[in-house]
Amino acid sequence: MINFQYLRAASAEKALSLLAKDKQARFIAGGTNLVDLMKKGVMSPEKLIDINRLPQREIFLRNDVIHIGALATNAAVADHPLVNEKLPLLAMALKKGASAQLRNMATVGGNMMQRTRCGYFYDIAMPCNKRSPGSGCAAREGYNRMHAIFGQSENCIAVHPSDMCVALAALDAVVVIGQTKGERRIAFADFHRLPGNTPELDNNLKSNEIILGLEVPLNGFGHRVQYLKVRDRTSYAFALVSVAAALDMDAGKVRKVRLAMGGVAHKPWRLTETETFLQGRELTDDLIREAASRSVLNARAYKHNNFKVRMAAESIIQALTDARQQS
Ligand SMILES: Cc1cc2nc3c(=O)[nH]c(=O)nc-3n(C[C@H](O)[C@H](O)[C@H](O)COP(=O)(O)OP(=O)(O)OC[C@H]3O[C@@H](n4cnc5c(N)ncnc54)[C@H](O)[C@@H]3O)c2cc1C
Repeated sequence: MINFQYLRAASAEKALSLLAKDKQARFIAGGTNLVDLMKKGVMSPEKLIDINRLPQREIFLRNDVIHIGALATNAAVADHPLVNEKLPLLAMALKKGASAQLRNMATVGGNMMQRTRCGYFYDIAMPCNKRSPGSGCAAREGYNRMHAIFGQSENCIAVHPSDMCVALAALDAVVVIGQTKGERRIAFADFHRLPGNTPELDNNLKSNEIILGLEVPLNGFGHRVQYLKVRDRTSYAFALVSVAAALDMDAGKVRKVRLAMGGVAHKPWRLTETETFLQGRELTDDLIREAASRSVLNARAYKHNNFKVRMAAESIIQALTDARQQS
């Protein structure tokens, strides 16, 4: 681990002005991902800007939108009465992530910015286009059991590891981003990127910006929801496949549906075509099975992760069936 300078900011403006002075500086929040990456030599920022004293920790409801500050911890969000009552899908996803200790430290902004868990990204002796652009992708021909089946490129087949982000993509959340002069907003589904020719870029946050928080609309998905996570252990393990499902039903028919998957792509994988297919139809077992089959038609697997294609389809069936049963 290299020597680094440690600075603190008590406001977003101060944090951004410190960042503007040094493009190599990095924000540190809970530190649960960044410190690991620094210890392993994957990231080597010479300056850390501690943003834990920023006021952006609040969780509140205004005009049918739940606002969540970027420094709210994963535990605070998962346990908040408002989130449990109005956004149970988000609470479920958070509670299935990491461990209680980690959730006490991890923040919303840090969770969104966490890096992939691809073993070749963490092993600095191996080629990895995400860590070292142009060096190659060792995972394509290597041990790729955890890797992507959707949206990958020749340059990178890594997956985004977050659970929280899968629920937020399904719930049509909006990311509030701070800039030196003002703010901008971006749809959550457009925040993370597919690898394409620039796998080193995980998301669309610019190097001079900070995540201030999230706005999650109350969209009628209060009850019929399920976050299904399939993993090697029931705790402390990343998803092999996960599904966030949210239903709004009217007399057995689908009024609205949201579906997103985790563990299968470089970003939370929203199933918009499946949502359109289900819209307005009676949600029978047969329809659910057909929707699941359609969802994996374009999947592309590698030597060790072929099992994920069937696992993805079965998980969609289970998540939709579970969500339908809620009242
Ligand atoms: C053993 C283990 C198991 C885990 N299991 C899971 C799991 O099952 N599911 C899951 O979803 N996650 C899991 N995680 C990941 C964990 O959720 C993340 O490490 C955590 O959310 C990161 O948040 P943080 O606040 O600690 O981020 P930090 O480590 O402080 O920062 C991570 C990155 O985010 C940037 N950053 C932080 N805040 C902001 C901001 N406001 N604006 C811009 N940039 C910012 C930092 O500069 C840094 O690059 C696991 C982690 C560990 C160590």
